[in-house]
Amino acid sequence: MSSLTVAGMRVSVDGVTILDGVDVHVPAGAVTVVVGPNGAGKSTLLRVLVGALPAGGSVMLDGADLGRLTRRERARRMALVEQDSSAPVSRQVLDVVLLGRTPHRPRWGADSASDLEIAGAALERAGASELAARDFSTLSGGERQRVHLARALAQQPGVLLLDEPTNHLDVAAQLDVLALARTLAGDGVAVLAALHDLNHALRHADQVVVMSCGAVVAAGRPAEVLSGELVSTVYGVAAERVRAGGHDLLVMDRRGGAEHEPERSTSASLGRG
Ligand code: ADP
Ligand code: MG
Repeated sequence: MSSLTVAGMRVSVDGVTILDGVDVHVPAGAVTVVVGPNGAGKSTLLRVLVGALPAGGSVMLDGADLGRLTRRERARRMALVEQDSSAPVSRQVLDVVLLGRTPHRPRWGADSASDLEIAGAALERAGASELAARDFSTLSGGERQRVHLARALAQQPGVLLLDEPTNHLDVAAQLDVLALARTLAGDGVAVLAALHDLNHALRHADQVVVMSCGAVVAAGRPAEVLSGELVSTVYGVAAERVRAGGHDLLVMDRRGGAEHEPERSTSASLGRG
């Protein structure tokens, strides 16, 4: 069981502040969802946590300073499924998933029977068993997403970071991923997922962190945090909470929202992030 505590995280690139004093607690055994407009800093936060970007502030993993762990130690305990993975390589899917075992085996060691078993179980959990023998470069976006998830599961992390894990997935597959996040949390994993769909966040998160312009603007239980008013202010859309089918839902409309806070970057455009 692992938990992660981020305090005062700051990131600047070329003099531009991207994260500005972010505090987040990600408890073991729960699904924490980060939401926020494009460019809010969600991916940057996740990338800092796996050591892909330097940052100020502190990150504690089970009370120990994450900055003191080697990359390998960190990779044994935390895994990230990135939002946009690099160009697909021509490689068998099973081998891609086995990459998740790298931090756990001796430096020049071959895959053991146990590695193969863990990779097989990870593929199954990610709903990708039938892809094991395929060439990764020939997969669809949704299939690749499942394989990346399987690779992260093969890492057997205590903390699982998911950057828009429902991207490229049809609605049934999106619900499968959210259900898997719930199951993993039930196993004690600390799950931190950036999501765009506010209704997924409302329904599937134990706690939600709302980011805007590199800062946390609200955090807490989704039903309390994701009010129509907050969504309207943060996203600049009209938003209303309604009750349907026994669930709270957010209904949004482009017109009539509060004044939208501009993104920091001058490259703000629709469809980014
Ligand atoms: P989100 O995932 O919430 O959409 P990101 O974390 O990807 O946001 O980006 C936050 C902001 O930081 C954006 O304005 C983005 O353009 C900027 N940014 C991210 N990485 C870099 C970088 N390496 N250099 C310059 N700007 C960056
Ligand atoms: Mg992002």
